[in-house]
Amino acid sequence: MKSPDFSYLKAQTMAEVFSALQTHGESAQLLAGGQSLLAMLNLRMANPSILIDISGLDFLKGIQMIGNVVRIGALATHQEVLSSSIVQAHVPLLAQAVPYVAHLAIRNKGTMGGSLALGDPAAEYPAVALALNATLIIQSANGERRVKATEFFISLYRTAVQAHEVLIAVEFPVATSKQRFVFSELARRKGDYAMVGMALALNLEGQTISDASLAFMAMDDKPILAPHAMQALIGQSINPHTISQAQKSLDKDLHPVGDLLANAATKKHLSRVLLSRALIQAGAAHV
Ligand SMILES: Cc1cc2nc3c(=O)[nH]c(=O)nc-3n(C[C@H](O)[C@H](O)[C@H](O)COP(=O)(O)OP(=O)(O)OC[C@H]3O[C@@H](n4cnc5c(N)ncnc54)[C@H](O)[C@@H]3O)c2cc1C
Repeated sequence: MKSPDFSYLKAQTMAEVFSALQTHGESAQLLAGGQSLLAMLNLRMANPSILIDISGLDFLKGIQMIGNVVRIGALATHQEVLSSSIVQAHVPLLAQAVPYVAHLAIRNKGTMGGSLALGDPAAEYPAVALALNATLIIQSANGERRVKATEFFISLYRTAVQAHEVLIAVEFPVATSKQRFVFSELARRKGDYAMVGMALALNLEGQTISDASLAFMAMDDKPILAPHAMQALIGQSINPHTISQAQKSLDKDLHPVGDLLANAATKKHLSRVLLSRALIQAGAAHV
């Protein structure tokens, strides 16, 4: 299928973007890497009157460490995130997740901001942002606002970004030496969207888990935390009993709906498998 007709604006400045968003309202759509949007146009799942191409805006590019956060510009491509030494050293959970995002050709064009703003519940970055409680930075003609990941993902393909706004960057907290991270997912083929995926961040005081954050993807209409399982981990060491208790707690946290890739029972089973593997990896426990 071919896309519907639309006007096109290659934005040179943020002011131009905001002015066009003001003029066209909800009928305008931003174009970043185009790796999701162009497919949506061709499938007639989107029908914008105008595409505002933001891909040339240097303001939205770059990966920097600023104090105790790593700030990633919305236009950083998946490949730039993958090859960033800053991300490797300071946001290891994200570094583990990027290789799972699609294929090389898509990673060369697709962007951090595009993935987060799209809010696909089966995508990797939203789950990582949630597990690390990242801060999303959104700008409009009226100024900037900062939204925590827990408030950012609202429902299927719906995020806190409104029609007159642009997601400009995301800030991930710098990892500490006491933290352990595991990202893992199961997909039918490498590069496919996941049947189930999981992002785990643990804080260890000696052998004891003092804090835990656990996010799942492809389980609901948005990435979700697993609060009961997180609670089951806190104050425990990583051993077979802890793993079993955390797995059982997932029953209270996860209520998946089956999709084309896996039914609900399979997703639940796989979530337990992923959690067990991740905890063993994080703590080198033996079960
Ligand atoms: C075959 C295939 C396999 C894929 N597999 C995966 C996968 O395994 N995991 C995964 O996570 N993704 C996957 N993707 C999607 C890919 O990661 C996209 O790059 C990403 O979802 C969107 O980024 P983009 O820059 O291409 O955004 P675009 O396609 O340009 O835009 C996507 C949406 O976000 C909006 N948008 C873009 N940037 C901004 C911004 N800065 N502020 C506000 N709104 C914005 C656009 O208006 C649009 O609605 C796959 C894509 C394809 C084609």
